[in-house]
Amino acid sequence: MEISELTALGHENKGMLRAVRANCLECCCGSAPEVALCQLTACPLWPYRRGTNPFRKKPALTPEHKAALTARLAGRREA
Ligand code: SF4
Repeated sequence: MEISELTALGHENKGMLRAVRANCLECCCGSAPEVALCQLTACPLWPYRRGTNPFRKKPALTPEHKAALTARLAGRREA
């Protein structure tokens, strides 16, 4: 299927986790608290229902990398 065909059908490239989140919200009538409380752990989407991937490891940051990220965040706040 071509991207233009998907776009014509109203779809956009939003990323898999956002798509899962949107699906879970639709499954729970738009209620984010209900998504959080979902107990259907057998559902294949369940680990990802909050729009995050709990299996993804957090990168180990060096002190230099943390300082660079902090400086970049501070720059964004000023802007
Ligand atoms: S994880 Fe829960 S809220 Fe999400 S699709 Fe499955 S049953 Fe619905």
